[in-house]
Amino acid sequence: MTWDFQTDPDFQQKLDWAATFVREDVEPLQYVLDSAYDVANPLFQRLVRPLQAEVRRQKLWACHLEPELGGEGYGQVKLALLNEILGRARFAPVVFGAQAPDSGNAEILARFGTPEQKERFLKPLLANEIVSAFSMTEPQGGSDPTQFRTMAVADGDDWVINGEKWFISSGPFAAFHIVMAVTDPEAKPVNRLSMLLVPADTPGIETLRVSSIAGHRTPSHSYFRYTDVRVPRASMLGAPGQGFAVAQTRLGGGRVHHAMRTLGEAQKAFDMVCERVISRQAQGGRLADKQMVQEKIADSWIEIEQFRLLLMRTAWRIDHYNDYLKVRRDIAAIKVQMPKLLHDVVARALHLHGAYGISDELPFLGMIANSYVMGLADGPTELHKVTVARQTLRDYTPSPDLFPDYSLPSRQAAADEKFRDLLEGLALEAAHG
Ligand SMILES: Cc1cc2nc3c(=O)[nH]c(=O)nc-3n(C[C@H](O)[C@H](O)[C@H](O)COP(=O)(O)OP(=O)(O)OC[C@H]3O[C@@H](n4cnc5c(N)ncnc54)[C@H](O)[C@@H]3O)c2cc1C
Repeated sequence: MTWDFQTDPDFQQKLDWAATFVREDVEPLQYVLDSAYDVANPLFQRLVRPLQAEVRRQKLWACHLEPELGGEGYGQVKLALLNEILGRARFAPVVFGAQAPDSGNAEILARFGTPEQKERFLKPLLANEIVSAFSMTEPQGGSDPTQFRTMAVADGDDWVINGEKWFISSGPFAAFHIVMAVTDPEAKPVNRLSMLLVPADTPGIETLRVSSIAGHRTPSHSYFRYTDVRVPRASMLGAPGQGFAVAQTRLGGGRVHHAMRTLGEAQKAFDMVCERVISRQAQGGRLADKQMVQEKIADSWIEIEQFRLLLMRTAWRIDHYNDYLKVRRDIAAIKVQMPKLLHDVVARALHLHGAYGISDELPFLGMIANSYVMGLADGPTELHKVTVARQTLRDYTPSPDLFPDYSLPSRQAAADEKFRDLLEGLALEAAHG
C-alpha cells in the first residue's frame, strides 16, 4: 500500500530552484511587460527569451507535454507542485512553456494534427515563437453549446466558416485559431460540432472588438466575425462531429493546471496577510493577537490546505487512471472550489490590510477579479456543480418503498430480525431465572 505525502528529493531540488527563479527573475516581468501573448514585442523577446532558455536548461520547459513533444512527461502530481509555484507570477506560465490557451491547443494539434499542420503550427507553438487562440464561445451563448451558431459547410475541397466568436483569449496575437463550428445541425447536440484549424491571416476573419479583463492593461480578448472563411478539408481536427471529444483533450488537463496556479496565487495573498498581521499594531497590540484576526488566518490556512489535498488527489487519480471519465467529478469539484478559494482568501487579505488593501498599491483587487475569471473561463461554476452532483448520484439507486430502508423504524425491524434468535433466547433465559 502506498499513501504518501512526500516529494522525492531530486524533484524537490527542481521545485526549490523554480521557486527562487520565479520570485527573483520572473515576477519582475509583470511590472515592465503587459501582455504575455505579445511574443513579437521586442521587450518581450529581450526579457523573456533568456529566461525560457534557462528553464529549458533546467529541464522544466513545457512539462505538461510528453517527451516526444519536448516536455518531460512528469505527470500531473509533479505538475501540480510546479504549477503552484508558477501561480505566483503572471509571466511564469509563458516562461515555463505552459501558457493557456497554447498548452491545450498544442495537445490538440499533437493528437489530431496532420504532419504538415504539426510542422507549420505545432513546432513554433511549442517553441513559443507563435501563440494561438481557442475560438469556441459565442455572444448569444457560452455555457450552452447548443446555442452555438457558427457553421462550417463543406464546399468542394474546403470547409467554409461563417459566424461570430467572442472572449477569445490571445485573439489579437494569435497565428492560428482552433474554431469550434457546427457541421451537422441535425445531429444529437453532442455530435453537432467539429474543430477546425484556421490560420489567422485567412481572408474573411474580422475583429469586431477587443476587450480587457479587469486588472490587465492590454486588451487581449477578441470578438471575431468569420465571413466565408475558407480552409482545406484537412483543417478538421478529429472526425466530423467530434468537437466535444477533441475539446476534452485540452479542457481536462487545462482545468487542473489553472487550479494549481490559482492555489499558488491564493497562497501568495495569504503570505502577504500573514506578514501584515504580525507587523501592524492596533489598540494596544499586534493585529495577529486579535481573535477575530486569528479566525481569518485560521480559516484561510484550512481552506488552502483542504484545496491542496483535493488537488493533489485529483492529480494523482489522473496519473493513476489515465482515463478522463474516471476523474471527471474530481476535476469538476476542483473547478467549483478554485474561484471560491481565491476569492475568500484574497478578500480576507484585502480586508486585513485596511484602506491600503483596496488601493492600487496592492494586488488584491486584481486577484479578486481573477477569482471571477476562474469561475467563468472554463465554464461557469454552476455547470461544474451539476457534473459533481450527477456523477455522484448515479452511484445510488432509488428506494423501492415509500419509507426508505434507512428510516429508523426500518432499521429497528431489520435489527430485530437479525438478532431475533439471540434476543428470544436471552428473553427465555431471563424468564427461567
Ligand atoms: C478571461 C476569460 C477568458 C476566456 N477565454 C476564452 C477563450 O479563449 N475561448 C473561448 O471560446 N471562450 C473564452 N472565454 C469565455 C468562457 O468560456 C465563457 O465566459 C463561459 O463559457 C461562460 O459563457 P458566457 O460568458 O456566455 O456565460 P453565460 O452562458 O451567459 O452564463 C452566464 C451565467 O449564467 C449562469 N448559468 C449559465 N448556465 C447555467 C446553468 N445551466 N445552470 C445554472 N446557471 C447557469 C451562470 O451563473 C453563468 O455565469 C473566456 C472568458 C473569460 C472571462
